[in-house]
Amino acid sequence: MKTTTQVLVIGGGVVGVSVLYHLTKLGWSDVMLVERSELTSGSTWHAAGGFHTLNGDTNMAALQGYTIMLYRELEEMTGLSCGLHHVGGVTLADNRDRFDMLVAERAKHRYMGLETEIIGPEEISKRAPVTNTDGIIGGLYDPLDGHLDPSGTTHAYAKAARMGGAEIVLHTRVTALDQRADGTWDVTTDKGVIHAEHVVNAAGLWAREVAAMAGVYAPLHPMEHQYLVTEEIPQIAEIIDAGGEHPHVMDPAGESYLRQEGRGLCIGFYEQPCRPWAVDGTPWDFGHELLPDDFDKIGDSVEFAYRRFPVLERAGVKSVIHGPFTFAPDGNPLVGPVPGMRNFWSACGVMAGFSQGGGVGLTLAQWMIDGEPDRDVTAMDVARYGDWITPGYTRPKVIENYQRRFSVSYPNEELPAARPCRTTPMHDIFEELGAVWGHQYGLEVPNYFAQGDEPTFETPSFRRSDAFAATGREVRAVREGVGINEVHNFGKFRVTGPRARAWLDRIMAGRIPKRGRIALTPMLSEKGRLLGDFTVSCLDDTCFQLTASYGAQAQHWRWFIHHQEPGVTIENISDKLTGFQIAGPRSRDLLAACTRDATDLRFLDLAQMTVGQAACLVQRVSFTGDLGYEIYCDPMDQRALWTRLCEAGQPMGLAPFGMRAMMSLRLDRFFGAWMREFSPDYTPAETGMARFIKWDKDFIGKAAAEAERDTPPARTLAVFEVDADDADVVAYEPIFIDGRVQGFCTSGGYSHWTGKSIAYGLIPREQATPGLEVEIEILGDLRPARLLTDPIFDATGERMRA
Ligand SMILES: Cc1cc2nc3c(=O)[nH]c(=O)nc-3n(C[C@H](O)[C@H](O)[C@H](O)COP(=O)(O)OP(=O)(O)OC[C@H]3O[C@@H](n4cnc5c(N)ncnc54)[C@H](O)[C@@H]3O)c2cc1C
Repeated sequence: MKTTTQVLVIGGGVVGVSVLYHLTKLGWSDVMLVERSELTSGSTWHAAGGFHTLNGDTNMAALQGYTIMLYRELEEMTGLSCGLHHVGGVTLADNRDRFDMLVAERAKHRYMGLETEIIGPEEISKRAPVTNTDGIIGGLYDPLDGHLDPSGTTHAYAKAARMGGAEIVLHTRVTALDQRADGTWDVTTDKGVIHAEHVVNAAGLWAREVAAMAGVYAPLHPMEHQYLVTEEIPQIAEIIDAGGEHPHVMDPAGESYLRQEGRGLCIGFYEQPCRPWAVDGTPWDFGHELLPDDFDKIGDSVEFAYRRFPVLERAGVKSVIHGPFTFAPDGNPLVGPVPGMRNFWSACGVMAGFSQGGGVGLTLAQWMIDGEPDRDVTAMDVARYGDWITPGYTRPKVIENYQRRFSVSYPNEELPAARPCRTTPMHDIFEELGAVWGHQYGLEVPNYFAQGDEPTFETPSFRRSDAFAATGREVRAVREGVGINEVHNFGKFRVTGPRARAWLDRIMAGRIPKRGRIALTPMLSEKGRLLGDFTVSCLDDTCFQLTASYGAQAQHWRWFIHHQEPGVTIENISDKLTGFQIAGPRSRDLLAACTRDATDLRFLDLAQMTVGQAACLVQRVSFTGDLGYEIYCDPMDQRALWTRLCEAGQPMGLAPFGMRAMMSLRLDRFFGAWMREFSPDYTPAETGMARFIKWDKDFIGKAAAEAERDTPPARTLAVFEVDADDADVVAYEPIFIDGRVQGFCTSGGYSHWTGKSIAYGLIPREQATPGLEVEIEILGDLRPARLLTDPIFDATGERMRA
């Protein structure tokens, strides 16, 4: 065993060996893996080995596609068999909403180049004859679905990694992690100490314990999971003898997945009476045993399966596999550099190792070697959770996620477990005003305020929801008078020190404003991808405030700390500063009524003011596209500030508004939003953010941004008015130009003020000319849409800048 290494991967499950292999594939060979037992000694050995591309997040789906395509390559490279069976698979829909969801998935697959198809009950019976299609409306068929041999696949990855120079050490357990001052690690094992520059936590079932050795919490939890393997089933044997194979069948109504296993079938369940496992920690002596069979837990699911797949009722059970595997609160992996740590990387929480393991390995290797993954991986970034997360939050969320594994996911849905979570001093006041809450990065955020007989629960829907009328009412209140909402859900940072301006000039691509002014700027990666869209406020030359996405604060924090320099202090003050946004034509009157300080701020000015009795920072800017102000204060002053604004605003018709109205208002002025129009998948030149770049300074990502300026990218962001019916664009719907898919939507919605359905999307640059007519597929219907060139409200920005 070598005692120094560039990278030490802890854990020889399918994920650890994939990380190891991808590090060698991308050029690092001084890498090693330690495994406390044999390879596959955690969840991996008892997996059912199924794989599929279907994932609500398109980047996750693409990485799953990558994983599946990798297996043949591994087999060819190593000469080892992964036991691949590319049998295809169908996901059934027994109700209209699920069918809508599958149709929307299929639409996304069109521009992703995935050859899935929607098929009817007759075709389902033909392709998957063991299925009773009574009550089935249709299904989504994916030819890439299949299954493999978990052990063979893990060993193929391991051999490929060894061929690239990696060392794998078995029967060696990591017992302690100690970081040296230079950021490298002393990794203590039961066979001696290894000095490693980087450590990767791929410890699967023990990832919580390994994270704790480094002093951090890994937000994941193991769940028990059970599948049954039958004896030979004549109908399956017949198919095999005729040279065929039975495809996978996912039956969300029965919360089951079914596939051929030998000459019989294998069926697994995501049962409602599910059970978290090893709540207080995974025992070190667990590994090669299974959990006791538990038929009671899956009794209802088995009953349902007998109706859907009648052959099962007559089949004998050959074996029962009951084992644990880990989930993050949202079911996606936890990958990337752990925020607040140096050289400590996460590759855990992978609940579908055989669909996702390759993508996880590739992503982590790119991140470690190139400094960034080559696509937006926010959906699995370990930094999508902040330091507010605890086991008390993770456990109920993981249970919820397990139980919802096969549920329909609606775009407007708010999940209830572990809620309310984090609240501001306004929570009970807003509750009394009828707030209907959403949830963002642990924070409760009002989606809208229900008045009169408006619904106090927004029914999940793919179409315009029953919050439509309330949202429209709030939009009108803003545009016609003045509206108010909280600024608690902005990520906020304070940057101070003698080198604060110089540092910001390097980190941000745009202009850093002078004292008393605000500027908007993109933040870029070295490769010129968007990492953030920031508002920078200059309080004085050594003190700046930054605001951006609340949900991206840990990612931004990680980036800032990575690039921190002497002479600069950076604080994440997201929850230390709160306040309100007031917006609408009467917002200036409202502010003036609450302060004796001068309120003649120009657009993008800022000033310290006493508002009511609170010391506030007031900024003349608003995401609503209207005349508006952001008023920041200490959370301890927030209720007093509210009381004053409310009293003064009453005669002006002041109305609270929520995120639904906010997202409608922003459409009117064509404002893009983070993780919709702006994300690490896109560049400034593609999204119009290049206009904020200050070219005559040095900044991170400049070379890449300049290259794009000189050779513009192939696609560009465009805005469309859609002839929609009762459903608007959400995201990733395909855009047809001349009958061919040539683009996709980044987001959209209904502009309540103008009565128009709006879509934003990326299309070929040369096509983006005035008068362009396109079609956008919404829930299976091709909807005509026209390119818009001017904002549909306050086109000249007169009102916003007045
Ligand atoms: C019943 C069941 C069925 C499943 N079916 C499927 C399926 O069909 N398809 C699919 O994609 N997924 C399936 N899964 C999930 C799949 O098993 C996991 O996603 C996958 O195995 C996770 O792999 P891993 O490498 O992250 O973790 P693990 O397999 O748990 O590997 C972690 C490894 O780290 C080692 N280790 C831990 N701590 C240390 C330490 N301190 N020092 C050294 N070594 C250490 C362990 O010994 C272990 O070998 C199933 C899971 C279960 C339980």
